[in-house]
Order: sequence, then C-alpha cells, then structure tokens
Amino acid sequence: MSKAIDESITAVRAEMAQAARIARRKAAEVQLIAVSKTRSIEAIRPLLGAGHLVFGENRVAEAAEKWPALRAEFPDAELHLIGQLQSNKAGEAAAMFDAIHSVDRASLITALGKAIRANGKSPRCFLQVNIGAEEQKGGCAIADIPVLLDQAKQQSVNITGLMCLPPADVEPAPYFALLAELAERHGLKQLSMGMSDDFPAAILLGATHIRVGTALFGPRAR
Ligand SMILES: *Cc1c(COP(=O)(O)O)cnc(C)c1O
Repeated sequence: MSKAIDESITAVRAEMAQAARIARRKAAEVQLIAVSKTRSIEAIRPLLGAGHLVFGENRVAEAAEKWPALRAEFPDAELHLIGQLQSNKAGEAAAMFDAIHSVDRASLITALGKAIRANGKSPRCFLQVNIGAEEQKGGCAIADIPVLLDQAKQQSVNITGLMCLPPADVEPAPYFALLAELAERHGLKQLSMGMSDDFPAAILLGATHIRVGTALFGPRAR
C-alpha cells in the first residue's frame, strides 16, 4: 500500500477509535465506508489490498465501470450506493449494491420493491432524510418518514436505518442529533451520517456508518 493511503487510513481509524472511546461505544459498532467516487481502480486497489473492504460510490454508471473488475479480485468487497438514485436504475442498483443509502421517495421504493422481487437480491437500505429541509437537496421530509417506512415494509424493501447530509457550512451536530432521535422513534438501529470533516461528531451522536472520501484519498479533482 502506498505510504500516503496507509497513513491516512491509520489516522482516520485513530480518530474513529478516539470518538468511540469518548462516546463509550465500541469502535467496531462504526462501519467506515471509503467513498471512492471519482477515484480510479488503481487508486482504490491498494486499500482493498490492505484489507479494507467497504466502499461507497455515488453513481450507478461509474460503479458499473469500476467494480466488476475489482470484485473479481476481491470477492468479499462490499459496495454501498450513497448518491441519488433514479427509479429507472433501481434494478441495476439492487443487483450491484450491498446497501443503498439514498432511498427517499415512494416511486423509488416501488421500483426497488419490483427489482427485489424479480432478482431476489435485497440490499440493506437507508431512508435518506432532508434533515435541514433544504430545497435543492435529496432526501424525504421528516413528516414523510412514517408513510415511506410503511410502504417499504409492504414492498419488502429492507430499511435498516436513516441517512442524512446536513446543510453545508453550519455546525452539523444538531442535525446528527435530530437524525438519531428520528431513528430511535421509528425503531431503526442504523445511522449513516458523518463525512471527512465531521465524522467524529457523528460518532459521538450515534453514527453506525460514516462515509469518508477526502480524508482517505485526498482532495477530489473538480
Ligand atoms: C462524496 C460524499 C461523501 C464523502 O465526502 P468527503 O467529504 O470526501 O468525505 C459522503 N457522503 C456522500 C453522500 C457523498 O456524496
């Protein structure tokens, strides 16, 4: 493994462990998802080679280009979809991803339910919540959580937790705390929250899945 990625994953793991210790949680309760969007196969492979197996991509088409080759080499790799999903790609996504973090509307739940019944593969899903009620952002309104959870249950879409992306440039902790409260209220055990800039705060507030790109791979080209 290259020295740079070796050092960055060691540093991220150390910060995760410290946050877990402060929160009196077990470090193993928090899954690190290495966000590999925009990264080449060559950039991703060293991390897999070092034994890190859980990755996140934000686009179905990009994942379909990169991951068949990587999975042939590393069959135990686990792939999470963290970006918005169009209903017409639900079938492809359900077949390719082990988890989908961006379930956020009735039409997508219907499409996923159909895909799951057709191909028998049922990814773990997170309901994405638009936690800051931002107009331009994906995610369902807080008020819509109960009806979407009911619909998912009826259609055999396995929702195991909630996911959010808090508003940029403000203190994220209140939003993480709110997502944790909503999950608890609905009996959901998993929380996908926290990225490179704020994952320690997310762990303190109960994150079970953190999605970290830049802190592992360096800045993304724009
Ligand atoms: C890109 C992305 C991340 C990772 O962001 P970093 O700041 O690079 O850690 C996490 N979650 C989602 C939904 C993303 O699109």
